[in-house]
Amino acid sequence: MKADSGVYSVETKEQLRQLVEYWRSQNQKIALVPTMGFLHKGHLSLVTIARQYADRVITSIFVNPKQFSPTEDFDAYPRNADEDLAALAAANCDAVYLPSAEEIYPFGFQTSVSVNDLAGALCGVSRPHFFGGVATVVTKLLNQCRPDVAVFGEKDFQQLKIIERLNLDLDLGVEIIGGPIVREADGLAMSSRNAYLSPSERKIAGRLNVALAQAAKDISTGNGIDDAVHRAQRDLVNAGFDAVDYLEVRHESDLSLAGPGALSSSARIFAAAQIGRTRLIDNWPISISTERGRQPRG
Ligand code: AMP
Repeated sequence: MKADSGVYSVETKEQLRQLVEYWRSQNQKIALVPTMGFLHKGHLSLVTIARQYADRVITSIFVNPKQFSPTEDFDAYPRNADEDLAALAAANCDAVYLPSAEEIYPFGFQTSVSVNDLAGALCGVSRPHFFGGVATVVTKLLNQCRPDVAVFGEKDFQQLKIIERLNLDLDLGVEIIGGPIVREADGLAMSSRNAYLSPSERKIAGRLNVALAQAAKDISTGNGIDDAVHRAQRDLVNAGFDAVDYLEVRHESDLSLAGPGALSSSARIFAAAQIGRTRLIDNWPISISTERGRQPRG
C-alpha cells in the first residue's frame, strides 16, 4: 500500500476504507481533497489547508468521465501520476486515492446526483452535463472515504456551492471548506487546463483576472454593475479572447444574480471565456465599503 514516494497509494474503495478505519481507530481526523490530478500549487494549497483541519490528508485523483461531454477534452485532459505523487509527498499529504473508472462506476451503474437551482446558471448553461457529473462523483468520493473534512477551491466557486448544498441535502455530514484561488505571477488562476495554452494565448489568458479585478473595483467604488460588466466584456474581447461565455455578478450565498442597482450581500464577479480551444473560468470577490453601505449606483 505504501508507495516509494512515501505517500500511501490506494486504488480500491476497500483499501481506502481500511486505511481510513485504521486512522480512525487511532482517533485521527481525516480530510479529503478531491482532484483530477496534473497537480499544481492551487491543488497543493488545498492539501495545506486540509492539514490545518485534520490529522491525515487524503488526495483523490480521478479524471471523472461523467463531467465531460462527448465533444470535450476527456481523452486529452493532462495526466501525470508520477509527478503528482512526488508533489503530494513533498506537500506532506498522507495518502492518494487513485480509483479506476470501474471502481467508481461499476457495470450497471445508473444513479446520478443533481443539484437543481445552483447548477442552472453560469457554467451549467453551456455545460449542462457538467455539474451532474461533479455532484455524482463527489457524493461517491465522500461516501467511499467518509472524511471529517473535505476541501475544495474557490477557483470553482459554483462547484463549491453545489457541494456544500449536496452535503447538506443528502446529510453527508462532512465539513466542507473552501480554499482561496492560487494565481500565477500575472494573476492567472492556476488550472490544469492552462497547459493547453500556446505562449501567445497564455499572454491573453493573463488579462482575464485583470478585467475581473477592475470590474470588482469599479463596482466596489460605486459604479453600476451593468457598466462595469460591459467594460470588462470589452476589455476581454480587446485583449484577444475569442468568446466570452458569461460575465456576471452574483451573490456568494446562493449565486442569485446581483444588480443592477444593489448588492444585498457578499458578491463576486464570475467569468468564463474562450481562447482557441481553451475555456478559462475565474471569479473575483467584490468588496463593499461599509461607509457606502451596499448600494452601488445603478
Ligand atoms: P480539478 O483538479 O481541476 O478538478 O480541481 C481540484 C480542486 O482543486 C477543486 O476543488 C478546484 O477548485 C481546486 N483548484 C483548482 N485550481 C485551483 C486554484 N488555482 N486555486 C485553488 N484551488 C484550485
